[in-house]
Amino acid sequence: MFETLWRDRLDQLAAEGRTLTLWLRDDDAVDVTPALDRLMALCLQHSVPPTLAVIPEKTGFPLVEYLARFPDVEVAVHGWSHQSYSKPPAKKQELGNDRPLPVILNEIQAGFGKLQVLHVQRFIPMMVPPWNRISSEIAGQLPKLGYRSLSVFGREKSFPLPLLNTHVDIMNWHGVQGGRDAETLYKELIAYLDQPVEALGILTHHLVHDDAAWDFLENFLRMTAEHKACQWRRASELMAG
Ligand SMILES: [Zn+2]
Repeated sequence: MFETLWRDRLDQLAAEGRTLTLWLRDDDAVDVTPALDRLMALCLQHSVPPTLAVIPEKTGFPLVEYLARFPDVEVAVHGWSHQSYSKPPAKKQELGNDRPLPVILNEIQAGFGKLQVLHVQRFIPMMVPPWNRISSEIAGQLPKLGYRSLSVFGREKSFPLPLLNTHVDIMNWHGVQGGRDAETLYKELIAYLDQPVEALGILTHHLVHDDAAWDFLENFLRMTAEHKACQWRRASELMAG
């Protein structure tokens, strides 16, 4: 029902000569894995230019060499080690105020430097904080370290630097992990047509996708890639305004 409604709404947009801008952020890449290969093949097939939020600490040349086949892929900085330093029951957070600020800033500077050297032209100066959480103190320091954009989850709010957020997360992180129900996802997507954002961000986590997540993503990419109303854009283009 919501999938049909979503398609109808896209047709309506197209009939009005309007477009929906989309971008895809996929988190937690470190190495080359069958799941990453599946995601990359899917994006390539539908000409969708993904942004990989790469965890800097342990990544290296194998990922660089592998990505050489995919010119449309961009790489953003996903924290440093993706380790949580918050004390339960506080929510998980790497970039919170749980450690001395200089220690954290050293790490996020190192992450920027390492990924920029490794990925050169596909590197974008965007911080994607693990668990989509960052303290305002740390966020305020990002421009000094070279970051030009921050990407978290939810509608964009005013922040110390430009935001390019994700809005629809295809995974269920509560209870039984897996892909969320497609109808629920289409309902959420429709809400973003009712109250639009500048660029609608889809969030994926290739390493933990189950069949439901892959099925949704395959359908969604196929449908939107073919649709006149939809424009998939690179994060770097959206950051440039
Ligand atoms: Zn992550």
